[in-house]
Amino acid sequence: MSCRVIPSSTDFTRNLYTATLVCVISFATFQVSQSLYRHILRNSRNRHRIMSSSSASSSSKNDAESLRCNRILSSKLYLDVPTSKVPLIYSPTYDISFLGVEKLHPFDSSKWGRICGFLIAARVLDKKCIVEPLEASKNDLLVVHTEQYLNSLKNSTKVAEIIEVPPVALFPNCLLQQKVLYPFRNQVGGTILAAKLAKERGWAINVGGGFHHCSGGKGGGFCAYADISLCIHFAFVRLNISRVMIIDLDAHQGNGHEMDFARDSRVYILDMFNPEIYPFDYEARRYIDQKVEVVSGTTTNVYLKKLEEALEVAIGTFDPELIVYNAGTDILDGDSLGRLKISPDGITTRDEKVFSFARERNIPIVMLTSGGYMKSSARVIADSIVNLSKKRLIDTTKP
Ligand SMILES: [Zn+2]
Repeated sequence: MSCRVIPSSTDFTRNLYTATLVCVISFATFQVSQSLYRHILRNSRNRHRIMSSSSASSSSKNDAESLRCNRILSSKLYLDVPTSKVPLIYSPTYDISFLGVEKLHPFDSSKWGRICGFLIAARVLDKKCIVEPLEASKNDLLVVHTEQYLNSLKNSTKVAEIIEVPPVALFPNCLLQQKVLYPFRNQVGGTILAAKLAKERGWAINVGGGFHHCSGGKGGGFCAYADISLCIHFAFVRLNISRVMIIDLDAHQGNGHEMDFARDSRVYILDMFNPEIYPFDYEARRYIDQKVEVVSGTTTNVYLKKLEEALEVAIGTFDPELIVYNAGTDILDGDSLGRLKISPDGITTRDEKVFSFARERNIPIVMLTSGGYMKSSARVIADSIVNLSKKRLIDTTKP
């Protein structure tokens, strides 16, 4: 009875516990749900932020790519070349000379004209058959270069640093534009056009170009414009080519195109270079697909054997639709910059091996003359081109 009127302390306590427990659980549930809600909200905001930033970056990447594409499509550099011409590209505008300052440089700055002179004298080439390119415009250069880099060339000190002739810093920039950069821009036009001609005729030689130390944002080592990178980007868009092999046999490492095509699987880079000389670009070395080091003093037979092996490895790994051959002659014995000991006949054999490699497989090949500016270089290059013609690897005797 009494026990019915007044609940037992046990029941009371139990009820109190139950009420408290319900309250605690409700409160805890509320807290958990609140914190869960905040967590979900935070995550969703983050996800949204990440998604919108990645879509912004991919959209700005797409914008840059379509701008590049438009620049290439509106370029005038891909000239229609009549079949009466030979795909050997040169213009007297290539050669550099002004006020004798070029003599301060160890380079033969008129080697390009001298190569053609030797070929004409050897009757391997008719002057009328030479293809003259156009100068690469600012619009063309912006395909690879930044506006900031091109503006930096308006500073004479910067140009002097790139071409490694300190006194040039004292000249007004308009003179450097006209006497140094204008010849370079014509050579760039030649390299770009060479890919089109190589696709049409199987081969093309630009008697200049090969500025392999210059990348989109940085020049150096006598290289003010990245003609190799430009040539390849034009080929991607205008020639419907998607796999390019660069065979860089200049004595120096080709750090410019290596930086421009870092992690780009469309480009395979075989670089044979002396690791003991300029540019010591260890970052760019990471982007070489096949690195073949030839130390100072390497002789002809050792060099050619390494080249043969490297070409076999390259073709076993990559199936190119275009080869860009950077045929620097600073590997010549006596070249103080390259420090290798390759004979003039060794250069001829090297070029023959690379051309045979491409021609036997029907892969269009572009050759650039690149580094090697000793007085004897022009003759060695001309002799090698004569040999290519004799071996019928190229045909320079079009009507
Ligand atoms: Zn070189």
